[in-house]
Amino acid sequence: TDHARIANFGAGPSALPVSVLEEATKGLMNFQQTGVGIAEISHRSKEFQAFLGNLESLIRTQLDVPPTHRILFTQGGGSAQFSAVVLNLLARYRLLHPERNTEETVLDYVVTGSWSKKAAEEARRLGGGQVNVVVDSRQFSESGKAFDSIPPHAAYRFSPDPALIYYCENETVDGVEFSHDDASPASFPYHLLGGGTNALVPLVADYSSSFMCRPIPHLADHAIIYAGAQKNIGPAGLTILIAREDCIVDVDAAAKLGTTPVPLTLSYKTLADSGSLYNTPPVLSIYIAGLVLERMQRHGGLKHYEETNKRKAEKLYAALREGEGKGVLRRKVKEGSGSWMNVVFEVVGPDAEKAFLEGAEARGMTGLKGHRSVGGVRVSLYNAITEAEVDQLIAYIKEFVQ
Ligand code: PLP
Repeated sequence: TDHARIANFGAGPSALPVSVLEEATKGLMNFQQTGVGIAEISHRSKEFQAFLGNLESLIRTQLDVPPTHRILFTQGGGSAQFSAVVLNLLARYRLLHPERNTEETVLDYVVTGSWSKKAAEEARRLGGGQVNVVVDSRQFSESGKAFDSIPPHAAYRFSPDPALIYYCENETVDGVEFSHDDASPASFPYHLLGGGTNALVPLVADYSSSFMCRPIPHLADHAIIYAGAQKNIGPAGLTILIAREDCIVDVDAAAKLGTTPVPLTLSYKTLADSGSLYNTPPVLSIYIAGLVLERMQRHGGLKHYEETNKRKAEKLYAALREGEGKGVLRRKVKEGSGSWMNVVFEVVGPDAEKAFLEGAEARGMTGLKGHRSVGGVRVSLYNAITEAEVDQLIAYIKEFVQ
């Protein structure tokens, strides 16, 4: 095998485990002794359908997804879901409240970074309801322009009966993430949504960059959770949806009452009724995601990854704090709101960032340049990044700071 690989801290598509890639290479030639490669086999074959069923049960078991929720597979990435959640949940709302028009329909968006901002913009573009920004975390930054914290619970202004309540669990670009400790001020304020588990609150979460890195808190209270595969579990092309049954609605019946017709490929009902096989799925991406999840199961499941990911993030933040103390580095996110998966910081001084990135490349570490919209350095610590790779990066950071 070709071991000329370097530590890839990229934000996505991102690193995959070497053992999975080696196994996938075999599957590309011959999928499960069928004599046909995975990229060539029919998605209607019994072998592929069994594999897809197994992928679903691996996700269900590891995330503890209750029977109230379906697991669906689709394409179009997180961006297609920016549109799909709006269209499907507007249809649901119209079926529940046939008398309400667009002016009386509200879509609640919690804006804590570039991706939730973009999702809110798409909802505005699609129309069909008024977008209410529940809170915009920029108002809490020093400049008024930076997404650098999770807002305090007292700042959230939820609508009384919205068609959806949207948030992004981990903001990949800005490095801001909700805490999973309900007692933390940086947690998502589930308690403000009222009603408890059976109230069927239309809570939507974008988990694109934190899916399968640790358990999902209050999973059963969500209407829709979605994630693109290309961060923690596989190649781009596959999108995973966890959808509560009451959100899988007859979009055509809603259209007869006046909502926008929903393209069939974006309709959750189409996906659910066809067992996620309405049209040709991204077979290769599904295959690699399945191998990754089998490996996760063998390694002790989400608990193990949660512990490892916590350690990885904590030791990196500790090194950054040290560098900050010496005036060489500057963390971009306020204490308590920092992401486990995407850690962002600046290197102080003219050309210092360039020197830092070049030094990293020279030592076999890549993908560290921050998102083009915000600059700086971004370290992505997805599941496939080993603790040894984090240690290697920390050693370099310490050397650089010296
Ligand atoms: N949401 C989050 C949190 C993301 O990180 C990304 C992509 O990086 C997206 C949505 C958009 O996903 P995609 O590129 O799959 O459309």
